Amino acid sequence: MSDCIFCKIVNGEIPSSKVFENEHVLAFLDISQVTKGHTLVIPKLHNENIFDMNAETARNLFEVVPQIANAIKQELKPLGMNILQNSGKHAGQEVFHFHMHLIPRYESGDGFG
Ligand code: 5GP
Ligand code: ZN
Repeated sequence: MSDCIFCKIVNGEIPSSKVFENEHVLAFLDISQVTKGHTLVIPKLHNENIFDMNAETARNLFEVVPQIANAIKQELKPLGMNILQNSGKHAGQEVFHFHMHLIPRYESGDGFG
C-alpha cells in the first residue's frame, strides 16, 4: 500500500526505532510512547486490521510476540505489560495497517522517570 505509513516503515522510506525484525514481522517503538518502551508489532504484509488477516499471517505474528515482550522486559524491567489491538475506526484504530501495542507498565508513572 503506497500511502500506508507502516508499509513505508517496513520499506525503510520512513525511519523507525526497530526493536525486532524477521522475514514476516517488524517491531518498532511507537512515535508517541505512552510508557517507556511502548512498541508496535506489525506483519510486513499490509493487513488493514484483524478482519483482514489470514491464519498464516496471524501465526507468523503471534509466534514472536512472547520473544519481543521478554526482550522488552529484560531491558526495561517493567512490572507488567498491556497488549492491545484496535481494529476499526470505532475501536480507536488510527493507522490502518494491523499493529499490536505492547505497553510496558511500571510501578508508578510512564517509566521515563
Ligand atoms: P492505533 O490508534 O491505530 O491503534 O495506533 C496507532 C499508533 O501508531 C499510535 O500509537 C501512534 O503514536 C503510532 N504512530 C503513528 N504514526 C507513526 C509513525 O510514523 N511512526 C511510529 N513509530 N509510530 C507511529
Ligand atoms: Zn501498510
